[in-house]
Amino acid sequence: MELEGKKITVVGLGKTGQALAQFLHRRKAMVTVTDNAAEARLGDAPAALRKLGVRLELGCHKPGAFDEADLIVLSPGVPHTIDPVENARRSGVPVIGEIELAARFITAPVVAVTGTNGKSTVTRLIGDMLERSGQSVFVGGNLGTPLISYADSTQAADAVVAEISSFQLDTSESFHPAVGVLLNITADHLDRYQDLRSYGASKAKIFSLQTCDDTAVLNAADPLVMKLTKNISSRRCLFNSDTSADCCAWTGKGGISVFTPATGRAEIVCGDNFLPGRHNLENAAAAALAAFAAGADLEGVRDGLREFKPDPHRMQWVVSVNGVDYYDDSKATNVDAAARAVESLGSKVILILGGRDKGGGYAGLVMPVKKHTKGLVLFGEAADSIERELGGIVETRRATSMDEAVAQASKLAVPGEAVLLSPACASFDMYESYAERGADFQQAVHRLGNDKDGKQRGKK
Ligand code: ADP
Repeated sequence: MELEGKKITVVGLGKTGQALAQFLHRRKAMVTVTDNAAEARLGDAPAALRKLGVRLELGCHKPGAFDEADLIVLSPGVPHTIDPVENARRSGVPVIGEIELAARFITAPVVAVTGTNGKSTVTRLIGDMLERSGQSVFVGGNLGTPLISYADSTQAADAVVAEISSFQLDTSESFHPAVGVLLNITADHLDRYQDLRSYGASKAKIFSLQTCDDTAVLNAADPLVMKLTKNISSRRCLFNSDTSADCCAWTGKGGISVFTPATGRAEIVCGDNFLPGRHNLENAAAAALAAFAAGADLEGVRDGLREFKPDPHRMQWVVSVNGVDYYDDSKATNVDAAARAVESLGSKVILILGGRDKGGGYAGLVMPVKKHTKGLVLFGEAADSIERELGGIVETRRATSMDEAVAQASKLAVPGEAVLLSPACASFDMYESYAERGADFQQAVHRLGNDKDGKQRGKK
C-alpha cells in the first residue's frame, strides 16, 4: 500500500492514534490528527507529534480534515458512524480502522481473538502457550500494544496474537487471520449496535476471508456463535464440545481435555493461580485449540496454562477482612461477565454493581442474584435502572462512592462469604477506566481492612 505523499487523517489521539501518526509519518504521508478532546486532556501526545511536523486539529472535528483526505484511519475507540466520518465516506473518501491498516503491513500469521468476554485472558493465554512452545510472539491489538506499533517495528514474530473488538472488525476489509477465535456473544455495546444479532455479525466478520486452510475456534455452547458461523469456509475447532470430528476441547474439574489429530486426547491441568469459574476453563479450552492451530506443542500448552498469571481486575482476589474475601472484577463491564463471576465463587456473595448503563438491561442477572447473592450494593448512573430490574430479590442498598459501597457490602457480609465488585456496567460515569475503578475498590477495601484493626490475612 502506497502511503508516501498521501493526505491521511487519523481520528482519535490516544495511544493508538499516536502510534498511527508515527507509522504514517515514517512512511512520508501528510498526516493530520484530529480529536474532539481539548489539547490539555491529551497528555504528551500533541507535543510529540507536533515535533515531527504532524498537523493537529484538536478540540473539535473540522470538516476539512475529513473531506479533503485521501484516506481516513480511525482509532479503535472512535465510532465509524460519527457525522464527519459518514459525510466523508459518502463523498468517496475511504475509511479504515487501525487493524485494517496494520494488517496490510503484517506478514506473520495472525491469531485473532474476539467475543464479548474473555478476549484479553484468551489472547494472553495463547501468547504464553506459543512462547512456551518456542515461538517468538507479539501479543497486542486491543490489549496492550496496538498492532500498528508491531507493523512499525523491526520485530519479526513467528506469530501475532491479537485481541480484536467488534468495532475494529467494523472498519476492516482485508483482515484475514490464520486462526480466528469467537468466544461468545452476549448483550453488550447495545448503545452502539441496533441489536444483538448485528453486534454478533460484526464479531463473525473475523472469519469472512478465511478459507479451508484457516482455523475457526468456536464456542459450541453459544447458539448465536454457532448460527452466525454456519456457513464459514474455515476448518472448525469447537470448544465446550467433545463431539467434533476434527479437534475439540471441553472443560473438566480444575482443567480441560483436548482432542487433536496430533495429540489425541490429552488432559491439561490449570495452575493454582488460575482464575475461578467454568467460564475461565472455557477460555483455557479455546486458547489451547487456537495455540495448537498456530503450531504450539502439548508441553507448551500445558506450561502456558499451569504458569498463567491473570491480569488485574479480572476476578482478582484482593484480601480477606474478618473472614470475608474481597474480589475485584472491575473488568466485568456487561451482564454476562458479572453473572459468570457471581456463579463462580462457590460462596454467598455481596455484589457491588453499577456505573454507566450499556443499554442491554439486567435480566440476565436475576437468576444468578437469586441463587448466589445475599445482597446488592448499587452505585453510579445505572443504579436506578438496576434497582428496577433486580431490586427486591435480595437486600439492596445504595452507595454514592466506592468507599461507601465497600462499607455497605462489608456490613452485609459474614465470615465465609465474599464481597465482589463485578459492576456489569462501563466505568465512565465516575472513572477514566475500569482499571481506575478497580484500583479505587482495592484501596477502599484495604482502608476498610486497616480500620478493622489490621485483621487482614496475607495472600490467598
Ligand atoms: P475482554 O477482553 O473480552 O473484556 P477479559 O478477559 O478482560 O475479557 O475479561 C473481562 C470480564 O469478563 C472479566 O470480568 C471476566 O471475569 C469475564 N469473563 C472472562 N471470560 C469470560 C467468559 N468466557 N464468559 C463470560 N465472562 C467472562
